Amino acid sequence: MDAAATQQTEPVTPPEAVTEGADREVVDLCSKLIRFDTSNYGNGKSNGEREATEYVAGLLDEVGIESTLVESEKGRTSLVADWAPEGVDTSLPPLMVHGHLDVVPAQAEDWQVDPFAGEIRDGCVWGRGAVDMKDFDAMVLSVVRARVRAGRAPRRPVKLVFTADEEAGGDLGAFFLINQHRDLVAGCSEAIGEVGGFSLTIRDDLRLYVVQTAEKGMAWLNLIADGTAGHGSMRNDDNAVTELAAAVARIGAYEWPYRITSAQQAFLDAVSEALGVELSTDDVEETLARLGSISRMVGATMANSANPTMLQAGYKHNVIPGQATAAIDGRTVPGGQQEFLDTITELIGDKVRYEFAVNKPAIETEFSGALVEAMQTCLVAEDPGARAVPYLMSGGTDAKAWDRLGTRCFGFAPLKLPADLDFVGMFHGVDERVPTDSLEFGARVLDRFLQQA
Ligand SMILES: [Zn+2]
Repeated sequence: MDAAATQQTEPVTPPEAVTEGADREVVDLCSKLIRFDTSNYGNGKSNGEREATEYVAGLLDEVGIESTLVESEKGRTSLVADWAPEGVDTSLPPLMVHGHLDVVPAQAEDWQVDPFAGEIRDGCVWGRGAVDMKDFDAMVLSVVRARVRAGRAPRRPVKLVFTADEEAGGDLGAFFLINQHRDLVAGCSEAIGEVGGFSLTIRDDLRLYVVQTAEKGMAWLNLIADGTAGHGSMRNDDNAVTELAAAVARIGAYEWPYRITSAQQAFLDAVSEALGVELSTDDVEETLARLGSISRMVGATMANSANPTMLQAGYKHNVIPGQATAAIDGRTVPGGQQEFLDTITELIGDKVRYEFAVNKPAIETEFSGALVEAMQTCLVAEDPGARAVPYLMSGGTDAKAWDRLGTRCFGFAPLKLPADLDFVGMFHGVDERVPTDSLEFGARVLDRFLQQA
């Protein structure tokens, strides 16, 4: 901010200052949230979401923010709270700040620590959810509580959303909210949440902070082959197993062509500039490997993909079954779904058909505008070597639900990470942990961001 601009505004506290105590509670809250075992086993089975959500509601209630709790099924609880204190510009549409409270399960015997103890050791908070995503949940709570205590309103209204069931696709969390409680969550122009905002160290004085602006779609397909049932000793030229197996093999062996989206291209350009190398699509994966584990995440986003994952047919060795089925985990780049389905149709041939088990198309938003500028400014204020870059993520998040409301979604959960931490490997990994410094950094960036966003 220049001097002239400073004179025109009249904030009690200059916007460039971080709110007193914004990062004070973040480590403790992250550790406490991890102690709620909110394991989501899929197929509707989970633990602890209700208890964790009530704990969050209590933390907001302590500072006078009222929450609405909704349940899709018993114990599958999500929370929505509108925070629009005095001083907020109510003429602006709300910003959604969202996080899920469920986690994937953890096998305790594989870990160095109890995954649900929230232990703080060697400068890190350890436990399931430390990076996915109780870290960001804790940042949000720490910052909001500090701001209320300091009497500092965000620039515009904030809609806080904490969801159940993200780790199983969100049907009992975010998608339940948009389908059954649309008024609670509608109306936000933009949203921030996972998975992005963390740093990749290029040099001591340059870190790329990858902001997620797009995610691949999920096109989970069931393949079905119908044939003529019969005795296994007879000739049968209409064997469902044979037809299905051939179709599955063709899909598995297919090499999907590169389809570079605009987010992907912007990421590759930034990497190429930062590393000082030319990137051509031929050697792009090799160059990305120099960035460490992010290459695993980015490498999977250059093209559509389809992996056979399950096969089912028959019940007896000498009986040819009338039907055989297979499951395909298909992932599509933004704008790539039609090409994906056309290719699948060609690969499976006439005798096999497909139906969707899950159809959640890819989403994408532009990496531009005031919100993106605020991200860059707030990162640089805490890390002069920061450069925000967009990227396309291979997995899916609750953003796919909010996108259906017309909300532009960004993965922006800021963390300045040590260069040697295999951060991407922490997601759903063993010994998941997050440095306490990184959490405090994230809280300060988020605090600045709420001032400007
Ligand atoms: Zn997550």
